[in-house]
Amino acid sequence: MKLIVVTGWVISGLWKWITAASIWRLMKSCWYSLTMMKLDPYLQIDAGTMSPFEHGETFVTKDWFETDLDLGHYERFIDEELTKNSSVTTGQIYLSVIQKEREWKFLGETVQVIPHVTNEIKDKIREASEWKDITIIEVWWTVWDIEWPHFLEALRQLRWELWRENVLFVHVVPVLRVSTSGEMKTKALQHSVSKLRELWIHANVLVCRTDSALTPEIKKKIAMFSDLDENRIIENWDQKSIYSVPLNFMEQGLHDIITQRFFGKTIECNLGDRKSKVEWLLNPVSTINIALAGKYTKLDDSYLSVVEALKHAWASHQTKINIHWLNTEQCEDQNREVFVQNFIKEKDIRGILVPGWFGNRGIEGMINVANYVRIHNIPYLGLCLWLQIATISFARNVCWLSKANSTEFDQNTPDPVIDFLEDQRNISKKWGTMRLGNYEAYLKNNSIVSKLYKSDFVVERHRHRYEVNPNYHDVLQNNGLFISGSSKDWSLAEFIEISDHPFYVGTQAHPEFKSTLQKPHPLFCGFVKECL
Ligand code: GLN
Repeated sequence: MKLIVVTGWVISGLWKWITAASIWRLMKSCWYSLTMMKLDPYLQIDAGTMSPFEHGETFVTKDWFETDLDLGHYERFIDEELTKNSSVTTGQIYLSVIQKEREWKFLGETVQVIPHVTNEIKDKIREASEWKDITIIEVWWTVWDIEWPHFLEALRQLRWELWRENVLFVHVVPVLRVSTSGEMKTKALQHSVSKLRELWIHANVLVCRTDSALTPEIKKKIAMFSDLDENRIIENWDQKSIYSVPLNFMEQGLHDIITQRFFGKTIECNLGDRKSKVEWLLNPVSTINIALAGKYTKLDDSYLSVVEALKHAWASHQTKINIHWLNTEQCEDQNREVFVQNFIKEKDIRGILVPGWFGNRGIEGMINVANYVRIHNIPYLGLCLWLQIATISFARNVCWLSKANSTEFDQNTPDPVIDFLEDQRNISKKWGTMRLGNYEAYLKNNSIVSKLYKSDFVVERHRHRYEVNPNYHDVLQNNGLFISGSSKDWSLAEFIEISDHPFYVGTQAHPEFKSTLQKPHPLFCGFVKECL
């Protein structure tokens, strides 16, 4: 078992996850198999109940687990799908210890943080590490926070149990610049290294977050005060794109440090076409404007995976995508038609993308936007809730069901075209009422989606409760809505299209979760191509 522990100190927002994910990327390119765990301090069991306003988007793993957005960051960097084992919270650890105590598993011992909680953490890490060459552990937030002792103590013990050579502590620290003199200051960094030592943890590699490269003198000073060879001081200066970070680390030989320590050899690291993908991202040949309609329009993090999926499509088309946020609450009043029209004209919008969300704020506006883009042949891609919105909009405006709605927004609607259908979905009680994680879809072969996916079968991740009501499939289809992808028994609509529209595609899933720079998602690429 080989363990790389990534910690941080002084401030948050140091690209700690980027460091951890870049290390995975480098080690994967050296042909090692890896797994990772992120240790989170909060008492929730999962991130499903956290507000996107406060915590950014909720990410869903293929195995039905709701985590915070960091696991999404990892997947995008490493081109692999993670599982719920990668997300560990204080809540999960304590729940498990308390359950064992109630089941008399500790046989009358006094149950304590050390050893019972720390043992629980170590067992989880050992379990996850089985059959893998290297396990990366990212410790959330900063060392010495009041919420950390149990995690850091468990890691310290593991280093002792596994022997030093099998554990590498990578410490991420800022080198701060005083704006008035322009000088780089290392004092905070020095304190951070010695604070870590107070916990009996010696940093083996320092990753310095800076705004520019360190001078040789500063680098030497950092090496001296942290008792490390100079090649163990890795610089992580500001990049135009975060996707360049693994390339930067590779040039500084971080992979060599790791393979030498763990396996006693250096291995050539090949990052494939990553460099050219990053170059396409940084040097686009054209630009387009796209509207992203939603209710969390002030916070990029709330729709992070969608924004990143657009960047991946941007790299593959070498086309810069300017995102303009369209607040759907502004599309609700009588002047909505004019408002949407002006917005599209003024900003030269080529297409509209609508990410999913919960709650009824901005819904009526969205139904209007869905109708506007349908009539005016504007390309758009709708994710999850948007498939439902487009269906309501179609039912009201084309099928003459003027009061059609989702029972999520109107319990008493006479035409519940979107409804809650627990029976059809066969969801185990264990996961509550939410359809979460991987589900299959079968695509009609003359559809836009089957052409884009180049397949008649796909698996995408889900996170929603409501569905297109099967009792309305016929009336919708007879009026021209094309259900282009469904569950195996055809009861659940997974994709919809409108046949005589250039690109009106809705999916009940969240395809954004599976897009990466190396493998941009076909739906996003198809949408951008159509906008171009
Ligand atoms: N609120 C809708 C549902 O639960 C859609 C949720 C979403 O977009 N993720 O079905």
